[in-house]
Amino acid sequence: MFFYFGKNVFPCDTLSVVEVRPIYLDNHATTPMDPRVHDAMARYMGPCCGNAASPHFFGEEANEGVERARAIIAETLGVPADAITITSGATESNNMALRGVDLPRSRSGIVTTAIEHSSVLETARELAGRGGDVRVVRVDSSGIVNPDDVVRAMTPNTGLVSVMHANNEIGTIQPVEEIARECRKRGILMHVDACQTFGKVPLRGELFDMISMSAHKMRGPKGVGAIYVRPGLTVRPVIYGGSQEKGMRPGTVNVPGVVGFGEATRLVREEWPQRAPYIRGLRNRMYNRLVDGLGEDTVILNGTGDQNRRLPHNLNVTMLGVCPQRMRPDLNRICATSGASACRSSDAGSHVLSAIGAPDNDSGCPIRIGIGNDTSLAEIDFVTDEMIRLVSKYRGQGCPIPMRRG
Ligand code: PMP
Repeated sequence: MFFYFGKNVFPCDTLSVVEVRPIYLDNHATTPMDPRVHDAMARYMGPCCGNAASPHFFGEEANEGVERARAIIAETLGVPADAITITSGATESNNMALRGVDLPRSRSGIVTTAIEHSSVLETARELAGRGGDVRVVRVDSSGIVNPDDVVRAMTPNTGLVSVMHANNEIGTIQPVEEIARECRKRGILMHVDACQTFGKVPLRGELFDMISMSAHKMRGPKGVGAIYVRPGLTVRPVIYGGSQEKGMRPGTVNVPGVVGFGEATRLVREEWPQRAPYIRGLRNRMYNRLVDGLGEDTVILNGTGDQNRRLPHNLNVTMLGVCPQRMRPDLNRICATSGASACRSSDAGSHVLSAIGAPDNDSGCPIRIGIGNDTSLAEIDFVTDEMIRLVSKYRGQGCPIPMRRG
């Protein structure tokens, strides 16, 4: 066993042993919090941080922090601050968009795509189960939806289209602005799940009716997010019991979380444009070295190879002929990656890979890599070498138990 003593090694004071941690490459599942975000939040986690709804000094102080963050989030989309509602994350925002939006009965139909996050697809499925008209549009083998297909799926009954900005498994960037224009022409509302792109890939808020966001995908805290709702549009709450967030999202606002979200937004906006080319270089180097080491017949790229239509920190490959049950435990000791979205059980397979006809668990070991702001060249090279070693070891060995497809 090769031990990698990288920067993820923490000496233990009392026992003088070191904990060897794998290299974190699962930044689509979540990102480590930026220490500057932590510092910004710390001020609001002190002994007396008020409730942002309280009409006194402490409440006003907390409220100021929340409003400052709201303004930064809104500015990033170019929308008014009061159009931003704080939520617990993109799952909740997506639920609000699909279940809460006020659609007339005659236009309650929803069009979405086959590669959406489960918080959209399962919500849509639930609505369809209650008699809703839900149409799911296919994507092409590169993982990108064709706006013409979205238009073709619309019926006189369609009131809402929901398409993600970038996919969380294969990183493909969807033509959401083009789809939004088609929606506007027809008086159909458009929701975008921008969970993987907010602050990184610019989005002009005024083109859309609703946008979902989440802080923990951009070096902010977990359990906080937001939804943009175009002024004038009614979104009913999905939970009841208070007047916070203008009654749209009752419950005490997570003040330190929101402050952290604001700071994370400010930082990603400022720093991502400089950081992204380096991260893209690491991603490309990893892919090229895998292909050089194992051959193009073994390393199948899932999703588009077009750099402009893929998030720079995303790589998704299937190692053909390698049993995931054999490879994963070894790989997990070296690095943290995933086979599918963290929101689905890993042995269920990936609905995204099956939607694009990519080889999934039944024919190889799919690996989703999300490179982080702090990932180093040495880490990428080390993981790549280890992957080549493991694939060479397990290729062609077959699986002890056939994988279940989801
Ligand atoms: N949408 C997408 C595209 C995502 O990647 C995720 C997180 N995996 C979500 C929604 C859910 O976000 P949250 O964890 O904030 O609920």
